[in-house]
Amino acid sequence: MQDRHKLPYGADLLHHPRWNKSTAFTEAEREAFGLIGLLPEGIDTEELQLQRVHLQLNQKTTDLEKYIFLSSLQDNDETLFYKALMSAPAQFMPLVYTPTVGEACPKFGMILRRPKGLYVSFKRRGRVRDVLKNWPVKDVRFIVVTDGERILGLGDLGANGMGIPIGKLALYTACAGVPPQLTLPVTLDVGTNNESLLRDPFYLGLRQQRVRGAAYDDFVDEFVAAVQDAYSDCCIQFEDFANAQAVALLARYRDRICCFNDDIQGTAAVALAGILAALRIVQGKLHDQTFLFLGAGSAGIGIANLLSQSMAREGLPIEDARRRCWLVNSKGLVHSQRDDLTDSQRPFAHDHTPVKSFLAAVEALRPSAIIGVSTVPKAFGKDVIETMARINHRPIIFALSNPTSCSECTAAEAYQWSQGRAIFASGSPFAPLQFEGKTFVPGQGNNVYVFPAMGMAIYATQARRVTDEMFIEAARSVADQVTQENLDVGLIYPPQSSILATSLRVAENVARMIFDRGLAGVDRPADIAAFIQAKAYRPEYRPLL
Ligand code: NAD
Repeated sequence: MQDRHKLPYGADLLHHPRWNKSTAFTEAEREAFGLIGLLPEGIDTEELQLQRVHLQLNQKTTDLEKYIFLSSLQDNDETLFYKALMSAPAQFMPLVYTPTVGEACPKFGMILRRPKGLYVSFKRRGRVRDVLKNWPVKDVRFIVVTDGERILGLGDLGANGMGIPIGKLALYTACAGVPPQLTLPVTLDVGTNNESLLRDPFYLGLRQQRVRGAAYDDFVDEFVAAVQDAYSDCCIQFEDFANAQAVALLARYRDRICCFNDDIQGTAAVALAGILAALRIVQGKLHDQTFLFLGAGSAGIGIANLLSQSMAREGLPIEDARRRCWLVNSKGLVHSQRDDLTDSQRPFAHDHTPVKSFLAAVEALRPSAIIGVSTVPKAFGKDVIETMARINHRPIIFALSNPTSCSECTAAEAYQWSQGRAIFASGSPFAPLQFEGKTFVPGQGNNVYVFPAMGMAIYATQARRVTDEMFIEAARSVADQVTQENLDVGLIYPPQSSILATSLRVAENVARMIFDRGLAGVDRPADIAAFIQAKAYRPEYRPLL
């Protein structure tokens, strides 16, 4: 029961997204809180309200209009917004996050209704603590922060990148029950080098070139320190920073504060989950496989690192584990004689003669799995897939590049060219299909299987650090929840329609590891599953009387 004297009253209550129940306020609440006359007499059930949302949404003709409608609903009635999302996550996720958010971000200044989140601008450097004090909630446990430099595949969108932390945090809540009142989307506005935005009259960010170097580092340091001061139990998730900054920030902060980077660690975990589920079909051990990546960027290196660590956990020395991961980039096979490699690529530069084409690399290395993270459409041609199918009874083919137009091959191509033997997953979704009378359901290696659950585990346990081992545990837990029926149709991820149940189970297993490793900030409960369930947000109106 709430202390009614601390609650907003009258029109303030109707305009408070967290407390507003709109047409579902009861008669007694209307009397007690000065709402008589401010609402029509009809009192809706929550089910009818939900039906109205679906009806109104269906009248919108474009996904961007649906995005704007849902954003306004979040401003008006947060509970109803989450009730809608959680009623049909597979339908709503693409509207509040990718791909629609990719359409919304470039136009963010134009479609703005009511600002959400916190803009921490370089102009306010030296005063970041004061900026945080303006946020009305004093207990924040989870921040998603971007500097807007590499928004999805769209590049530098400056302050328009705010759509990403907002959308992503909505998924933390809808997919894993992280309470929305404890979350905070943040944009570090350090300018933009996007000339068309700088010329756009609707652009709302700082109109200057990006801050770089020591000034940038000091500013991020000030932000991180201010968060530590203001919210001592807060986890910071770095999101959509340019690759160099992403790697550097994770390295700088991961052993000092509770933080992670979903683009690096979440991506790696979701790919590992797909591999572990695929190995249930192949009936093979991880440390017996050979992985060949097309693409040696942040996604490829991140996945190769987590695969190696996971093999090492199975007992393989880490050097041997890394030798089971091979990378090809735009200059050919990554090998020990190359002098153009980054520090993060070096551990995967093994002794080998130069190999120019990906097909030649497949022939030479005979991988059990190929993983496309190159952004090169059609790079897995018929010759590559036929060769994989010649080498392997069940070749593992992951075409993870986004969007669909960049996919290294389509699901249909993978199945056709391997005579239905490929175990396929993609970054962007492909519809189920028939091949020679059999149904195939391609899995989508969507990070949403991992980051919301990780957020829930961290929030519930008040974890002090986020380790790679926790991501390996999350991957194992996702893979374990793929049913035999899923595997029978080639689906190597759990269905997105049951994402909340999947995530809560993942969160439970990660939380157990957090307690086991002594990283929790709260006492270990007797029943960790019940503990996680009890912490999870439910989209229900709270009685006010
Ligand atoms: P990146 O720019 O850091 O890396 C791209 C890599 O591809 C580079 O190593 C580059 O040399 C290589 N490459 C480019 N052209 C090539 C060619 N012709 N032949 C061989 N290699 C070539 O990008 P990233 O962040 O690593 O992302 C790569 C892709 O992975 C993107 O499409 C991204 O959307 C996708 N991704 C998917 C998921 C997921 O499915 N969950 C997660 C993260 C990234």
